[in-house]
Amino acid sequence: KKIITIVGARPQFIKAAMLSRAIQLHNQAGQETIREQLIHTGQHYDENMSRIFFSEMDMARPTWQLHCGHTTHGAMTGQMLIEIEKILTEHRPDYVVVYGDTNSTLAGALAASKLHIPVVHIEAGLRSFNKAMPEEINRILTDHVSTLLCCPTRSAVQHLAEENIHEGVYHVGDIMYDAALFFGRKAEEASDIMQRLQLESKGFRLCTVHRAENTDQEERLSSIAEALMQIASSHCPLVFPLHPRTRQYLEKYHLLERFVSHPHIRLTEPLGFLDMVMLEKQASTILTDSGGVQKEAYFHQTPCITLREETEWTETVTAGWNQTAGYRTDQILACLENNPVRHEIDEYGQGNTAQKILELL
Ligand code: UDP
Repeated sequence: KKIITIVGARPQFIKAAMLSRAIQLHNQAGQETIREQLIHTGQHYDENMSRIFFSEMDMARPTWQLHCGHTTHGAMTGQMLIEIEKILTEHRPDYVVVYGDTNSTLAGALAASKLHIPVVHIEAGLRSFNKAMPEEINRILTDHVSTLLCCPTRSAVQHLAEENIHEGVYHVGDIMYDAALFFGRKAEEASDIMQRLQLESKGFRLCTVHRAENTDQEERLSSIAEALMQIASSHCPLVFPLHPRTRQYLEKYHLLERFVSHPHIRLTEPLGFLDMVMLEKQASTILTDSGGVQKEAYFHQTPCITLREETEWTETVTAGWNQTAGYRTDQILACLENNPVRHEIDEYGQGNTAQKILELL
């Protein structure tokens, strides 16, 4: 069997690494060989946002490296569509595998489905019910042209049913849980970030911000920034790895200087996954607008505050591990004071999601 996997953004490298690993194990076991090749669209392309993940995760280099990043949504998706279509037309795989909700996901799914190549969507069925998010548009459209829809949660299956998608839908668990288990162990051996940043276990908070809805609007970004500056203190510093877009907008709105000069905020470049996992395990609280980080907080048993009004991962909120605070300073500070009762979530599988997906192919 021949698979072409399409990746382009940070979280996709992590998810794809787990499926590639399962494919390698499958091939070593002497079963029918699956040949996987990778298209990297170039949506994220630099050292910290892309290359480090390939080396940390021992991933094969992409067969095709495109350069479709750094432009508007339409131009980016259009360029990807043109390039991916050329490759798929020439190589005609049995399946095209796409992940999550980025422009790379949508471009891959559209190109493949119009060539009648079955599309496998991993992380299908998630909905925020907020169509102002580019990710929501990408998810809905991708799900509607996919052949095999691999859902991380039961509510994702339900969302698809409500949109009349019933065929090819499977609740397989969350491939990010596979990654959390596998790289969680590796991080303990390989990451020295706690020493590098001179942090104490449970003695700091961790923050990431990168959603366009938060970075691009001055009111939202400055309100979040205000909360972060207020909560960072000498006994509980704040570690803040800066996504390139966030850095750009903090600069634009004259907020970056205040972060740089704050005595208890540690700004860093975007981190490699092992360092990031280590911080997620050791932080006392995580504040984030990332989808992946919200769940990783739960996987590593760290309470989370989500800097958005809604989340696709509602079960983390119901189970008390996550609170949706939105962007307002007072709301964020109020959530920090809460201590909800927390219980386990039985949705994400046993860390064998990649294996389950392979069995479906
Ligand atoms: N991540 C990372 N380094 C960072 C920030 C995030 O390795 O500096 C990881 C994080 O642990 C998670 C993934 O990147 O696994 C999430 O990516 P992102 O927040 O960009 O996207 P989302 O999950 O919101 O789609």
